[in-house]
Amino acid sequence: MGTLLIDLLRIPETGLAVRLSGEPEQLFPEGDREFTVLTPSLLMGELIKLEEQVIFRGELSTELEMTCSRCLEAFHISLHLSVGEILFLPWTAEQEKEVTESVSEEGALDIYYYRENRLDFCDLMHDQICLAIPLKPLCKESCQGLCVHCGQNLNLAQCTCKEEQRDPRFEILKKLQRS
Ligand SMILES: [Zn+2]
Ligand SMILES: [Zn+2]
Repeated sequence: MGTLLIDLLRIPETGLAVRLSGEPEQLFPEGDREFTVLTPSLLMGELIKLEEQVIFRGELSTELEMTCSRCLEAFHISLHLSVGEILFLPWTAEQEKEVTESVSEEGALDIYYYRENRLDFCDLMHDQICLAIPLKPLCKESCQGLCVHCGQNLNLAQCTCKEEQRDPRFEILKKLQRS
């Protein structure tokens, strides 16, 4: 397993090109979640050092397996993310208060803290992947989903349920028309 740590002292004034590969079990040691990472995730970019601050810019790519929210079939998805400006700051005791205050603010994820001159990219890669996960994953835009009556996967075959039975709103309309 490769390291996801970079020594601050290794970053020259001119910047450092970074290429890190994170194994699924490194980035997601807690295991089961709504997706499975299939391949090592690759982070590429550049680190610029401004005294104690370090800025990272680059991209991340990985392959995931997810479950379609409509038809419940597993499918694969390739993620290619542009990772905007990430700021690494040295951790100090005084920052503890500031950090807890900024956690609720949006964009707080774009700051990471380092200790003992070691920048750890594990959390960054973990967070970037989690942020990019679609809330309602679809195997394809046109996924037909499952029949609500018989459970047939409508991408594979039509079922024999009557068309109007599929939508309970039609039942309500009929009742309204009768009254
Ligand atoms: Zn689907
Ligand atoms: Zn059906």
